[in-house]
Amino acid sequence: MTSTELLKKLISFATLTPNEAGSFEFIKSYLNDFALIETEKEGVKNLFLYKKFGSGSHICFAGHIDVVPAGGEWASEPFEATEKDGIIYGRGAADMKGGVSAFLYALKHTASFNGTLSTLITSDEEGDAIYGTVLMLEKLKELAMLPDFCLVAEPTCEASFGDTIKVGRRGSINGRIKIIGRGGHAAYPEKSDSPIVALAKVLPYLANAVLDIGDDYFAPSKLVITDIKGGYGKHNVIPSEVEILFNIRNGITTDTKTAKSFIEDAMEKAEIQTFELSVTQSSNSFVIENTDEAQKYFEMLKKCVKDISGIEPRPSTAGGTSDARFVSKYGVGVLEFGVRNETIHAPNECVSTDEIEKLTKIFQEFISRVAKN
Ligand SMILES: [Zn+2]
Repeated sequence: MTSTELLKKLISFATLTPNEAGSFEFIKSYLNDFALIETEKEGVKNLFLYKKFGSGSHICFAGHIDVVPAGGEWASEPFEATEKDGIIYGRGAADMKGGVSAFLYALKHTASFNGTLSTLITSDEEGDAIYGTVLMLEKLKELAMLPDFCLVAEPTCEASFGDTIKVGRRGSINGRIKIIGRGGHAAYPEKSDSPIVALAKVLPYLANAVLDIGDDYFAPSKLVITDIKGGYGKHNVIPSEVEILFNIRNGITTDTKTAKSFIEDAMEKAEIQTFELSVTQSSNSFVIENTDEAQKYFEMLKKCVKDISGIEPRPSTAGGTSDARFVSKYGVGVLEFGVRNETIHAPNECVSTDEIEKLTKIFQEFISRVAKN
């Protein structure tokens, strides 16, 4: 079975979060000489398969088997792989059964290594992710089996296969500002204290405000207003409150504290005294620790990607969150590399067989490079 055939097989399991739909039995039998650790809680299953070749480093390939619903109009059956002109269509083809197939194939076909090779696969990455990767990492920590390094095969590439390795992710901060004034009749504005007038004064300081200028890894952290609510849908009533919702995708120099004081400054400049502010971090930012060890894996992966794809990958932290953020929290160095992400979560999701074959070779090459070090 080639990695492409493996991908077709994985697509045939309708693994809607958090249902692994029998795919785990298949994966266990595929890697039947690997030892097994499983967790199951609230319908979420996680699989960890490992093989100890020697006493060297423990390298883990991680991913998720779950997919988002088919959604929208498909030209083919979403849970049945359809190949046309070298392209495989199916839900999860790129996000991320393609990556999972590539590393499963690489793991099965590794005859010798100097340490431990493993895979961590969750059935809940696209959902709440409460009992997913985190639960398995907790268990591995208890067993003193946390890997030394983890490679997550999420679809990271943009325009061309090979162009992007994710070295971290931005965090996400959600916030809410409530401006409190005094409502009244539109005919007597002097008798009210309109929160909309206050809003107009503060918006220039807030809309798309840049909270930090970014660094080598992160784009500038921007405050993006996502909703403004106030009023009663009437022409003649001045409301007493206006609410602003915002989101900040933050690097590591901006956090909830700096975001809060930035907004308080803006309110002061706009001379607004009565307001309520709440700011919460919904996911943390991280970047692969700048240690020699982490740098070593990055350089090795970069070389494998360049040799096989012909493209020099750039380090990036763009895009949404992934389970790599949990791995990083456990102090495990983590990088993400996989196929192009153009069609992920969209109807007619697809991946080329060429990308799957190259990705498989990159993972095999990475394993043998680590073994030589
Ligand atoms: Zn994914």
